[in-house]
Amino acid sequence: MDLSNFDPDDTFGKKRDDLENKVPMLKSSMSELQYKLYIENEKALLIVLQGMDTSGKDGVIRDVISAFNPVSCRVESFKVPTSEELAHDFLWRIHKTVPRKGFVSVFNRSHYEDVVEVRVQKLAPESTCLKRFDQIRQFENMLSENNVKILKFYLHISKEEQKKRLLERLSNPEKRWKVNEDDFEKRKKWDKYISAYADAINNCSMKQAPWYVIPANKKWFRNWVISEIITKAMIEMKIKYPQFSAQYDKIKI
Ligand code: AMP
Ligand code: MG
Repeated sequence: MDLSNFDPDDTFGKKRDDLENKVPMLKSSMSELQYKLYIENEKALLIVLQGMDTSGKDGVIRDVISAFNPVSCRVESFKVPTSEELAHDFLWRIHKTVPRKGFVSVFNRSHYEDVVEVRVQKLAPESTCLKRFDQIRQFENMLSENNVKILKFYLHISKEEQKKRLLERLSNPEKRWKVNEDDFEKRKKWDKYISAYADAINNCSMKQAPWYVIPANKKWFRNWVISEIITKAMIEMKIKYPQFSAQYDKIKI
């Protein structure tokens, strides 16, 4: 898999109006399925969002994940690790926030920062980062064997689109706070990030924890395709309402 073969502008021939009309219906299915997941209390769903700065991770949470009732949905945003987090293995802070049965967790950035950001910025030796691919596969496999359904989305934007979004943020006083000096430094290493992402996706995409490369230059396409994938995956989870025990039949009211 080579990310340069994926067009961030791709919309698979779909029309904006058609897709925008479908998103509310998909969100309402997501909401019903989430309720069933909560009542069933047997399985969990973990959604991982990764992508460059301005790629739309917060946008997906606002436009798609908002379908979920906060009663059983948690969003975790992973920042630069604290000294306590750094004193542990890289999966320590991640494992603590994995969803419990019946719940959905959404990771805004994740353990993949430890094989992308850490690798590009050389915050740990290359050999340590490379070992992490296997550690991540084993970790995700273990979660999957424990009824955690994992979906990982890489929001694929072009360098040109990032420039547009950064300029838009800079020119809007209400959005300027979102821009960090860091973002410009990282932008200079664009190709290194893309190649680290491709390595992570190639090494850690498994049937039980797939990576999806989402063309994300067009927000309306990104929103539709992610809500479609989440809905389908939740249907495939075959979530059931708990069975009534026979005794309930004998209750007279
Ligand atoms: P933001 O998502 O814009 O709030 O920024 C969070 C920052 O934390 C980003 O620059 C990430 O690359 C950084 N970050 C997240 N996790 C890690 C990690 N494990 N190691 C180093 N930097 C990280
Ligand atoms: Mg940022």
